[in-house]
Amino acid sequence: MVKDTCGREITLMRLSVTQKCNLNCPYCHREGDGDKNRCGKEISVSEIKGVMRAASELGIKKVKITGGEPLLRNDIVEIVKEISEIESIKDISMTTNGFFLDKFAYDLKNNGLNRVNIGCDSLSSSILQKNIGNIEKGLKSAADAGLNPIKINMVVLKGINESEIGKMMEISKRYNAILQLIELIPTGKIFFDKFFFSLEGIEKELERKASKVFVRDVNFRKQYFVDGAVVEVVRSHLNRNFCKNCRKIRITSDGFIKPCLMKNDNLIKINFSSDEEIMKSLMAGINKREIYYK
Ligand code: SAM
Repeated sequence: MVKDTCGREITLMRLSVTQKCNLNCPYCHREGDGDKNRCGKEISVSEIKGVMRAASELGIKKVKITGGEPLLRNDIVEIVKEISEIESIKDISMTTNGFFLDKFAYDLKNNGLNRVNIGCDSLSSSILQKNIGNIEKGLKSAADAGLNPIKINMVVLKGINESEIGKMMEISKRYNAILQLIELIPTGKIFFDKFFFSLEGIEKELERKASKVFVRDVNFRKQYFVDGAVVEVVRSHLNRNFCKNCRKIRITSDGFIKPCLMKNDNLIKINFSSDEEIMKSLMAGINKREIYYK
């Protein structure tokens, strides 16, 4: 198992495969990969395979495919299949806006995808396109195909959707999904100041009502079991504990190692010329990791 210079074991890969998206969510951080000046060629299937092979040799066993919208890549099923052929990669997941999931859920599952996060922020908001009306077909297909667990990613915004948390818990129960409540990560000061909604109060309420609380090893996130629903709370803003336990290395859709979501001045261009060079690039990226909120 490889460790960064702060002693954190690196076990997870977050792999962005495209910057393209069919939506334009007002809050989206685009995995910190939205630099218009660097919007280069998308990483190819063989490059992805190379980087995942190297990562697996370093002890990384889990990968989350993201974007942009990963289902906009024509070769997305092939990407999943190629990664799944690497024996030591034990868990392949994807985060998607769910709009095209009904077309892909079975193929993805049959080719090695284990589980899925579906962005859905609201039941009915017209501002937030990721709402249940638009993604319910995808959610149903994911459940039917056997992707498990399904997580619903709900980014909570002040004055927009915080009042819908209870209803979203009901929806998550209906699909046997875990509801992931996510605090806004800043992308711009004006938007953040206007819409940031602290989940501290909600978390206290969940803690009080929960019949069971489970602390995940990923960033010490807590899962609350409340009235038949499972709710996970993701609070990364100014959260030292979150950073202290971050075990993630990121790959951008144009082939850079990104040591931290929050920083763009420390990216390493991957040298794909040989497995050995890919490994050197990965190690250089891992060695650049720092604790963001100290
Ligand atoms: N298009 C896919 C989707 O909608 O899930 C994948 C990319 S999107 C960047 C991945 C996830 O990041 C989203 O589901 C959303 O929950 C989360 N996200 C995006 N911007 C965020 C922000 N500013 N703060 C917190 N979470 C955010």
